[in-house]
Amino acid sequence: MVCVVCPLGCKLSIERTSGGYRVKGSKCKRGEEYAVREFTNPTRMLTSTVKIRGSVHRRLPVHSSEPLPKGKIFEAMEYINACTAHPPVRCGQAIIRNIAGTSVDICASRDMKK
Ligand code: SF4
Repeated sequence: MVCVVCPLGCKLSIERTSGGYRVKGSKCKRGEEYAVREFTNPTRMLTSTVKIRGSVHRRLPVHSSEPLPKGKIFEAMEYINACTAHPPVRCGQAIIRNIAGTSVDICASRDMKK
């Protein structure tokens, strides 16, 4: 895998050992942590838009409050696509709580008036 923590983009490999994991190719500790996280529980921040009714715009930009497990992204998108928000909305306001049972909220990325 390629480390995406910084622009250097080190090429990493990981193998399981009796005591945990061994990461090769990393130039720093952050890369090692990234490799283990990607290998054991990969997560991603999710950004998207939801429908909004009664506002000057048709779509409201949203983002996840924390990274979501990668395996939950498609399920989360189904909830996002089915959601309709109603103004006024404040930046950071939770639009969908505990999406797909992950304990992560989907929050507005901007204010939106009626
Ligand atoms: S391993 Fe360290 S130096 Fe290499 S890309 Fe990742 S963060 Fe950057």
